[in-house]
This record gives sequence, C-alpha cells and structure tokens, in this order.
Amino acid sequence: MMLKIGITGGIGSGKTTVCKVFELLNVPVFYADDVAKSIMHTDQALKSGILDAFGANSYTSKGELNRTYISSIVFNDKLELEKLNALVHPAVFRAFDTWVSGHKNAPYVIKEAALLYESDAYKMCNQSILVISPIETRISRVKARDGISSEDIQLRMDRQFSDEQKMKYADHILNNDEKQLLIPQIIELHQQFLKIES
Ligand code: ATP
Repeated sequence: MMLKIGITGGIGSGKTTVCKVFELLNVPVFYADDVAKSIMHTDQALKSGILDAFGANSYTSKGELNRTYISSIVFNDKLELEKLNALVHPAVFRAFDTWVSGHKNAPYVIKEAALLYESDAYKMCNQSILVISPIETRISRVKARDGISSEDIQLRMDRQFSDEQKMKYADHILNNDEKQLLIPQIIELHQQFLKIES
C-alpha cells in the first residue's frame, strides 16, 4: 500500500509553501481544497446530489456551480453546511483514490487539506504533518497575500480547530515561524518517510 501523508495547518501557516518543497523532492501532492472546488463542476454524481439537495439554482445555465447562491445557504446554517460536506467529502475521497492509483511509482504521496482533522480526511492518511506559525505572522502573511481584513481572517480562523487542538492529532510538526529553518525540517521528514517505504 502506498504511504499517504496528510498536511494541514491554519490559514497562512504555510502549508502550501511546504507542499511546494515536497513537490521539488518529487513527491506528488493532492491539493484537496482545489480538487473540492473543481469537482463541483466535473463530478456528475456530486452535481446531481447538490441539485437534489439545494435545487436548480445551485448551477447556472452553463452548468457551473452558483457559488454565491450556495454560500448564502450554507454560510450561517450548520446543518446545510453539513449537508453540503456530506456530498463533497466522499467525492473528494473518491478523487483522491483515483489520483493515488495514478502515482504508483512515487515513494509516497501527500494530501494537503485545510480541514484535514475537522473533516476526518486524516483517517485516510497513514500519518499527518501540522504546519504551525504564530498567529500574528499568519495574519500579516494573509493580509499581504490576499489583501483581506484582520476581521475576515479571524472569521476563517474561527471555523478551524486551534493549533492546540490540531496538535493532538498530528504525528509531525513543522515550525514555519521564519526563525527556525524550514527546509531542513522538511528534508528530515522526507528521509523518515522514504525509510518507512523502503
Ligand atoms: P491558506 O490556508 O490561506 O491557503 P497556507 O497555509 O497554504 O494558507 P501559504 O499560502 O503557504 O499558507 O503561505 C501564506 C503566505 O505566506 C504566502 O504568501 C507565502 O508565500 C508566505 N509564506 C509562507 N511561509 C513563509 C516563510 N517561511 N517565509 C516567508 N513567507 C512565507
């Protein structure tokens, strides 16, 4: 069986940056949040599930997801959000399985997901990595990257487990505080994973 490593971290922690380094080491990375977005347009079973659950307004006449409409339904309603997740998560898991079988020659594979622990996606991985950075650093990074307000960043943080909660699940921690060198920490983990595989 292919070794599967999950990577997560709060908004602005640097998980995508870490994944880019793993890609440079020739490790394939599955970006679950990007895939979740794209399969809303391409996975026919998922599309009909969404149409059944949320009605004809869920898709435009061109067959594209009506994000504004769906967001307005799920944004402040936990049950509706759970309904959507119950459709999307299994579809992402299916896409991940298909993707893994296309990377049989890789030493191991990585799945990046913002809500790895919150969504139970970590259960499909053999081990997981948590990327941590101080909250102030994360806020200033996201402000610089996306130009959004501290309040909006805080709202997103409120929807994720805290680092303390996530640490209970994590097998490995990468400290991306811009004081400790990041790349040596990544290479150390890479070597550990290669050893498990061999
Ligand atoms: P999100 O959950 O919002 O997608 P993320 O955890 O994937 O965030 P990244 O996109 O990797 O985080 O990083 C956030 C921003 O911070 C990016 O613009 C990235 O270039 C920058 N950044 C990340 N790590 C470092 C670092 N060690 N030094 C300098 N800049 C960094």
